[in-house]
Amino acid sequence: MKKGRLDVISGPMFSGKSAELIRRLTIQDIAQKKIVVFKHGLDDRFGRPQDISSRNGNYLSAISVTKVAEMNEHLDFDNLDLVGIDEIQFFDRDELVALCKKLVDEKGISVIVCGLDSDYLQVPFETTAHLMALADSVYKTSAVCMQCRDTDAVYTHRVFGGDNRVEVGSDNYEPRCRSCRVNVK
Ligand SMILES: [Zn+2]
Repeated sequence: MKKGRLDVISGPMFSGKSAELIRRLTIQDIAQKKIVVFKHGLDDRFGRPQDISSRNGNYLSAISVTKVAEMNEHLDFDNLDLVGIDEIQFFDRDELVALCKKLVDEKGISVIVCGLDSDYLQVPFETTAHLMALADSVYKTSAVCMQCRDTDAVYTHRVFGGDNRVEVGSDNYEPRCRSCRVNVK
């Protein structure tokens, strides 16, 4: 029986999460694995709604969905090796966890997911946190702090915008390190 695994890539904004997801999926694509890639419909940055984009300019064709149920319509379990999912924090926790378990444990299909670990108040995103706990591997990314410029930034700081948990738009945020994040409160 095929054996699947679950890998999670997670960190703050501007830390190259999507670039790492694209890199991993690309090398599997070169190996002619059968791959389906999903992204959340909320994230249409860089104007290519059918792609996962990274800030280094790379992209990968992806199916844009807003609900986990929509993913099922695109999954042919008998003809699939790998599923990639970007921006997992936007998806329902229980639904996405159930789908990942089904793919990995029942179907032997590997899953690589990518998303923010916590919101601008440093509260973990439930979907990401849960998948991290179940994963075979977790790769934490960090950015460069926009205040001191020389320390690993692990937080997404909201510069502009209201109090809603999700405010889409990278202009509203900057990565900050532990020291600089503490100092603004
Ligand atoms: Zn700093």
